[in-house]
Amino acid sequence: MNEQLEQMDKEYVLHTYARNYVNFTKGINATLFDDKNKDYIDFTSGIAVCSVGHGNKRVADKIYEQISNITHISNLYGIEPQAKLAKRLKELSGYDIRTFFSNSGAEANEGAIKIARKYGETKFENKKYKVITLEHSFHGRTITTVKATGQESMHTPNFAPYPDGFSYKSTVAEVYDSIDEQTVAVMIELVQGEGGVQPFEKQEIQDLAKFLKEKEILLIVDEVQTGVYRTGEFLASNLYEIEPDIVTLAKGLGGGVPIGAIMTKLKDIFSPGDHGSTFGGNPVATAAALAVISSIEKEKILSHVDEVGEYLLTELALIPGVTEVRGAGLLIGLTLNAPVAKALTKKCQDLGALINAPGDSIIRIAPALNVSMKQAQKFVVIFSQAMKEVSHV
Ligand code: PLP
Repeated sequence: MNEQLEQMDKEYVLHTYARNYVNFTKGINATLFDDKNKDYIDFTSGIAVCSVGHGNKRVADKIYEQISNITHISNLYGIEPQAKLAKRLKELSGYDIRTFFSNSGAEANEGAIKIARKYGETKFENKKYKVITLEHSFHGRTITTVKATGQESMHTPNFAPYPDGFSYKSTVAEVYDSIDEQTVAVMIELVQGEGGVQPFEKQEIQDLAKFLKEKEILLIVDEVQTGVYRTGEFLASNLYEIEPDIVTLAKGLGGGVPIGAIMTKLKDIFSPGDHGSTFGGNPVATAAALAVISSIEKEKILSHVDEVGEYLLTELALIPGVTEVRGAGLLIGLTLNAPVAKALTKKCQDLGALINAPGDSIIRIAPALNVSMKQAQKFVVIFSQAMKEVSHV
């Protein structure tokens, strides 16, 4: 990024991110170009957002068509692409659900917690309101979703007081013991994304889902990162063969256009006035999401996700200095044998590949779902070279 832009950013934008001052000016599928026309294989996709790549023509055309007709109308009126998208989400998930649309993942989770609280208030004589989440989880940056996030470092006194009723367990097995009379929901990511791409075991999740159902405790699955085919199935919940009471989506749904969703089997939980959003389910965002889904179907991206995912799992595990590779579909985490994740990210960028480091020795990769096998192969070469240079192995 030129110095003037960098200064402008530093001067006028609040400093919530440790910025990397590269100025991307163009994107084609899984490749980004900077202002000096250097190309980068984008294995972050805006952190699992640009599911069908940069500059996807099908999505861009649909957005243009929608935006040049009706950009926004209030939720006081029916919104055609919103209704169509809600129908698609029901069909694709295979669940008997209705959907509320938000603008982000945190907002979707906030709404999911509101649903759980209302369920706990109206269904039982003694109000149930407690939500159990998992350590190392990440559920968002609003005050409530910060508190729902199972990372003590995020519960800084700066933002206190936080809402009551959240507790955290380090394993699924521990969740059972901490359930009490006031527990209304368990909220979980099936693959913890920010926590370093850590998948839970299918069987233990299925057992938990069954147990919670018997106890009339809600299972909320946060699929903000794993949803919309990131793991190779429409939902990670489909992969785990469970039927949660609430599933939240965001990142990949709009392919880069901000949108979130709360899908719930509690179809009549909310009445007009209980919840809302000016922009949620806006015509442009929902038209974009419909186009993302149709791209994934029409461009036959799905079989490809498993193929490229398998290739990456196998090849990356062979690189010296990589001690573990895990994940599902194209959400992949690597553990390194030394805390060099930051240096490696920088080195990869110098060599023309973008990765993300959610921990000192953890790397997350989440390329566009339509990344080509050729790009995956090129990525492995760059990553391997960067590892060599960073760890001198
Ligand atoms: N939940 C999960 C699992 C996430 O990965 C994220 C973002 O990284 C969020 C919630 C928050 O989403 P947003 O940043 O769109 O508010």
